[in-house]
Amino acid sequence: MTRIIFLGPPGAGKGTQAKILADHWGVPHISTGDILREAIKEQTPLGVKAKSYVDSGQLVPDLLVQDMVEERLQRADTTSGWILDGFPRTVSQAAFLDNLLQKINLDGVMVINLDVPDDVVVGRLLERGRKDDSEEIIRHRLEVYRSETTPLIDYYRDRKQLIVIDGNKSPQSVTSNLKDLIVSC
Ligand code: AMP
Repeated sequence: MTRIIFLGPPGAGKGTQAKILADHWGVPHISTGDILREAIKEQTPLGVKAKSYVDSGQLVPDLLVQDMVEERLQRADTTSGWILDGFPRTVSQAAFLDNLLQKINLDGVMVINLDVPDDVVVGRLLERGRKDDSEEIIRHRLEVYRSETTPLIDYYRDRKQLIVIDGNKSPQSVTSNLKDLIVSC
């Protein structure tokens, strides 16, 4: 059973690595950013509510994202596991996820922190050129990450669920480190 949460700043390579590992183990890659961008494109009620937050690099309110994740984690394709990318991003989302997993009788989630220095992630994001990847918004997203999401590193370290991986390497070598580590756990 593969259940993995990816932490790490925007541009750390979470999406790339989560996708490769999800394909490798045949489990869904659940990216809250992708779900939100799709909802915005389709102009669903969720998308309409989320748009201004996503466009300006702010976090979408916890309740909106939590409902979305609760629905997604109960779909049929999640029975053999999942890889969560971009959720949780706040301590309150993490507490919500703990409760949800208890409710659906799941434990044993591993949390990977992909560690990459700020100057490296800014360079990578500028190259990527997504709509919310202008320099000012990138800087804001990094600030939000430092203030809202880094407390999760201690949260999961205290629960002995945290594994730190050096993300400042080639994508291939990060993938191979991740595969080795996860198989040996
Ligand atoms: P990402 O693709 O993970 O970089 O997410 C892009 C944007 O989607 C973020 O800057 C937020 O506006 C929003 N978002 C994604 N995941 C979450 C989350 N767990 N909580 C709040 N906002 C989120």
